[in-house]
Amino acid sequence: MAILNMRLLPDPILRKQAKKVAKVTPQLKKLVENMVETMRDQRGVGLAANQVGSLQKVAVIQTPDMEEPMVLINPEIMKAEGERQVVEGCLSVPGYRGTVNRSEKVRAKAMGLDGKIYRVNAEELLAQALEHEIDHLNGILYIDHLVDHDSLYKIRYNSDGEEDEEGEDDESEEAVAPVSPVSIETLSSGSEV
Ligand code: ZN
Repeated sequence: MAILNMRLLPDPILRKQAKKVAKVTPQLKKLVENMVETMRDQRGVGLAANQVGSLQKVAVIQTPDMEEPMVLINPEIMKAEGERQVVEGCLSVPGYRGTVNRSEKVRAKAMGLDGKIYRVNAEELLAQALEHEIDHLNGILYIDHLVDHDSLYKIRYNSDGEEDEEGEDDESEEAVAPVSPVSIETLSSGSEV
């Protein structure tokens, strides 16, 4: 297994539509294994293939209460219900968070590594992660869903290297760690992960 290079904004691959996977091959399995390892290394709860330089429709998700990662090949949102505002971040947009609108519940379908289609009903962090990762595969980033321009902010860290929850406006570069020690893919609240 290997940790893959993260693609960061403004890498154009993040704005491309990923292509449907025709079948599960050994190469695809290897990509998935490496994506899971990279997601864990980055302390993320999800990762889409564009973020590691592949334009295949593949994403992985592992929220803190899941024992095994969920592998999503050709995932699609079938139904979304309700709306809520959540604070979200992205491994490809390091150092920032923003408030976005997400659905309360989603129903998605995807193919697993066994080649079989499965469906998942999700709410809370898993629903948020499903929307976030499936967006990635369509070239969409969470910053496209900001409730308003002011809702994007730089993450600040206190002297212990922990995320500062104050969130006050401060343009000081020193306040932002170059690599976030708590960098995560999606987040529904500061204490979630
Ligand atoms: Zn992301």
